[in-house]
Amino acid sequence: MRILLTGAAGFLGSHLTDRLLAEGHQVIGMDNFITGNKENLAHLAGNTNFSFIHHDVSNFIFVPGEIDYVLHFASPASPNPASPLGFPNLPIQTMKAGALGTHNSLGVARAYNAKFLLASTSEIYGNPLEHPQKETYWGNVDPIGSRSVYDEAKRFAEALTMAYHRFHNIDTRIVRIFNTYGPRMRLDDGRVVPNFIQQALRGEPLTIYGDGSQTRSFCYVDDLIEGIYRLMLVDYHEPVNLGNPNEISIKEFACVVNQITENDGGTIVKMAKRLGDDPNRRRPDISRAKELLEWAPSVPLAQGLEKTIPYFRQKMGL
Ligand code: NAD
Ligand code: UDP
Repeated sequence: MRILLTGAAGFLGSHLTDRLLAEGHQVIGMDNFITGNKENLAHLAGNTNFSFIHHDVSNFIFVPGEIDYVLHFASPASPNPASPLGFPNLPIQTMKAGALGTHNSLGVARAYNAKFLLASTSEIYGNPLEHPQKETYWGNVDPIGSRSVYDEAKRFAEALTMAYHRFHNIDTRIVRIFNTYGPRMRLDDGRVVPNFIQQALRGEPLTIYGDGSQTRSFCYVDDLIEGIYRLMLVDYHEPVNLGNPNEISIKEFACVVNQITENDGGTIVKMAKRLGDDPNRRRPDISRAKELLEWAPSVPLAQGLEKTIPYFRQKMGL
């Protein structure tokens, strides 16, 4: 297939590019580098199956030649206001990537009668009142909170994707991605995985926001990419959760990172209260993915962290 992948220079986009090329497809990567990194694609220089278009997806997208699939991954993705590149600091760009970017990407799919896959997020469930989260749960989202620019843009993106499916008969997919980690995450991302790993490698205490009782469920990137690839190939249009259902509190997660890195810096409470609408808990119900895709994550947290830490060591010059 000839595939357009928006957000190709990002963490997930670059891993997905590698997988698609390994499967023998042609990939046209598109990115404006707002949160992405050219280095994530540097190893593809000279690969004749890969080409790149520097473009902001909020503007009309033109791709010469037929396209078989459009994968829309372009969006800032970090919730942390302490990171200059987190979506609270790029509020308009985040809304534009989710809204206008999705519209333009769907437009390309329609123009070429291509299939379409939207990278959505567990954030659409907000601070969930149902636990674990099934795809049938409608969510609990503050429409004007600090995360709203992301949550609402992605909810709009899902609605628009379904509208194109129902009205224009576009062959669409929606993946709701839960917290994913691995090599090529941005160091200044502000997300908990890069923060904790770097603090631990520097021998510092890990910064816990709030009392650390909030939970997340961390999925290693290779598992996620496998699930996305399988979803691309099935005929299914409702949203599908992909993530690792192994739930852990942030406090426990800090202990795991300290143990693996042999950091004796311990932890400190960085802010007594968590930021705004930071969800209390998050865990995917992956029954749908299991049944539909015969997929389940296989990389345990400790093993995924062992695979991720060398990347951070290298980037930190250690
Ligand atoms: P990332 O920031 O590493 O990648 C996003 C990429 O999109 C970057 O390369 C960025 O430059 C590009 N981009 C942003 N706005 C753009 C625009 N207007 N035009 C062109 N390119 C643009 O983040 P990521 O973690 O790889 O996330 C990729 C996608 O997956 C996002 O849509 C995100 O919402 C979704 N997602 C990620 C996670 C996760 O845990 N990593 C969880 C849920 C959803
Ligand atoms: N967090 C933390 N310390 C940090 C960074 C994040 O305790 O240095 C917490 C944050 O408050 C949240 C959880 O870790 O409850 C996951 O945050 P992240 O930014 O990785 O993503 P989110 O799942 O909130 O989108």
